[in-house]
Amino acid sequence: MRSSSRTLPATLPARTATVLTALALCASLAACGQNSDGGSKAEKSGGKGSTIGIAMPTKSSERWIADGRNMAAEFHKLGYKTDLQYGEDDVDQQVSQIENMITKGVDVLVIAAIDGRALGDVLRQAGEQGIRVIAYDRLILGSPDVDYYASFDNEKVGELQAGYILDRLGLESGTAKGPFNIELFAGSPDDNNTRYFFQGAWKTLKPYLDKQQLVVRSKQTKLDQITTLRWDGGTAQKRMDDLLTSSYSSADVDAVLSPYDGISIGVISALKSDGYGTAAKPYPVVTGQDAEIASVKSIIAGQQTQTVYKDTRALAKQAVQMADAVLNDKKPEVNDTTTYDNEKKVVPSFLLDPVSVDKSNYRAELVDSGYLKESDLR
Ligand code: BGC
Repeated sequence: MRSSSRTLPATLPARTATVLTALALCASLAACGQNSDGGSKAEKSGGKGSTIGIAMPTKSSERWIADGRNMAAEFHKLGYKTDLQYGEDDVDQQVSQIENMITKGVDVLVIAAIDGRALGDVLRQAGEQGIRVIAYDRLILGSPDVDYYASFDNEKVGELQAGYILDRLGLESGTAKGPFNIELFAGSPDDNNTRYFFQGAWKTLKPYLDKQQLVVRSKQTKLDQITTLRWDGGTAQKRMDDLLTSSYSSADVDAVLSPYDGISIGVISALKSDGYGTAAKPYPVVTGQDAEIASVKSIIAGQQTQTVYKDTRALAKQAVQMADAVLNDKKPEVNDTTTYDNEKKVVPSFLLDPVSVDKSNYRAELVDSGYLKESDLR
């Protein structure tokens, strides 16, 4: 318990005294750490020297490597110690890594979940020990023991991808009427971001699908038909191969909504094997996300068309700001208190702005900002 109790005048009625005692003990619900079950926890606090457990999902994608590295560096600058672990897309492994962090006595947990629904039990243990939990990039679902969320405006990511497709095809400006053929890909079904990305994309594309200016020849438009388990590029490649065989023997695909660069690379491999990438059969518009080096190179080479850049340095700073605040009995800065309901509570969030990047602005956005080096892209 962080707030100190004060001595109460002996003359107060018993009930008032009890209430005041409770108030004195818990200056606020937040300070008291009352969770949605009504239980309260003695929250850990303390600044420099505290240890932060950082649980990241996988090293198979550059962004998570950078996220972990950036966060650790920022925490170290403030005098914190860190325990950084990668779950390698194995849910059980991530759960046991977090369990170990709790056993070792970390003071705050920052978690990018592999499966947003798999952490309820382990987070209950964290809650019981007063360890505050910050959901990083991906919201953790179904648990009251999530204190804050740092992410990007995830719906906007989908809007940027879909808006880019409309723009490139000339549908938005009305210079082209279509119909154009489009296929849709979504991320991992167990990642809460997946539905936000798709929601943003779907609402942007829907008017054009309704007017049949965009046509999904495979008819696979429902989220559960288009997800890609663990965001795996190979899985996406296989699905794109199947779509080309089943639905494009007599037509070309003009656009592919891809939610993530690793998926885009898989999609482009399938397209290449099918003869795309020539003057007679150019690549369709292919979107992406994360501005990974392989994809930015692919954009420069005229294969992938677009990506969504999310400055993970800024995200790391937000998460560090949140952890530092809770450990010093301050309120973290948030800018959204309505959007991210994890089914147990609306988790106060700080959402950053994603940016659409293509061949025309990659240098200004990615290189000039120092996010990537020009030499990485050669
Ligand atoms: C992140 C994306 C990332 C994807 C795959 C999502 O939760 O928000 O930035 O592309 O996971 O790693």
